[in-house]
Amino acid sequence: MPVRKRILHIAASAARNMHLWPLIARTGAFNRARRRKYPDTIVHLDVVITERCTLRCRDCSNLMQHYRKPEDPGVDEVIYSLKRLLSSMRIEQLKILGGEPLICQGALTKLLEFLGKDAGGRIGHIDIITNGTLLPSEECLKAMRSNPKVRIFFSNYGSLSSKQEEFAGICSREGIRYEIADEEFWWDFGDLKERNENARRTGHRFAGCYSRRLCTTLYRGRLYVCPRQAHMTRLGIIPEDISGTVDISRPEYDDPAILRGAVYELIDRKEYIPACRYCGCDSNTRIPRAIQEERSTDVTCRS
Ligand code: SF4
Repeated sequence: MPVRKRILHIAASAARNMHLWPLIARTGAFNRARRRKYPDTIVHLDVVITERCTLRCRDCSNLMQHYRKPEDPGVDEVIYSLKRLLSSMRIEQLKILGGEPLICQGALTKLLEFLGKDAGGRIGHIDIITNGTLLPSEECLKAMRSNPKVRIFFSNYGSLSSKQEEFAGICSREGIRYEIADEEFWWDFGDLKERNENARRTGHRFAGCYSRRLCTTLYRGRLYVCPRQAHMTRLGIIPEDISGTVDISRPEYDDPAILRGAVYELIDRKEYIPACRYCGCDSNTRIPRAIQEERSTDVTCRS
């Protein structure tokens, strides 16, 4: 890791440990600094292309383990949404994830082709987040290879990531960049029960939250502050909160400036979202990674 990045990482960890993030976040200084550095840019965008996964992690913070009939949202809708977003803003880091994105390689290939052909100049980096359980098809590999912005990001779960070594070897051979993340633990987000707490407490959690500060999630044509909100809504755990999302297909967003304004409003949102009442991300509890639950879902490849 470069020195500057390492220093920032250490400072961010110290601020987190000293519970300073809620204070910093409330001032809006963090978002203002980001906007100066990246004007008219979404800094991080998670793009969900499937709910299906080859693993079934008990503590998946994106809640994939709760889908009984996981599906692929549809790559044409993803491309349509990205086209509209990119007409109004750049994206600095676009992460393609699921579930496991290599489970739907047809969709992944089509998306990569779009990102290479039509969106290249508007995107800084493209990360494909994989658990290292599957190998890419020849077509998919070609799409990865032909875009130098693509990096394969392996979440390394030891023996569960049974194809990682082989996949990393293919990347080396084909000149595809990759990184292996050997995290020792995950942070515990807790169960999905509603916390019995006052609004101030929930607001404090939202203000200091990593997801709220750094990520936006594109899922089924909408932009969300947080992946948990997206998936809890889909799973029917919380009702749809229109004010906490941007429905990219709305006709008024044909105007890129209006869409950009709506995205900034979402990123700058001060009021917590309903999902925060069901979240324990601020417990600062470390848990073992990728503990497997019994599988009951269909994970066969459909595209
Ligand atoms: S639910 Fe709220 S507090 Fe939890 S990760 Fe999402 S934005 Fe953060």
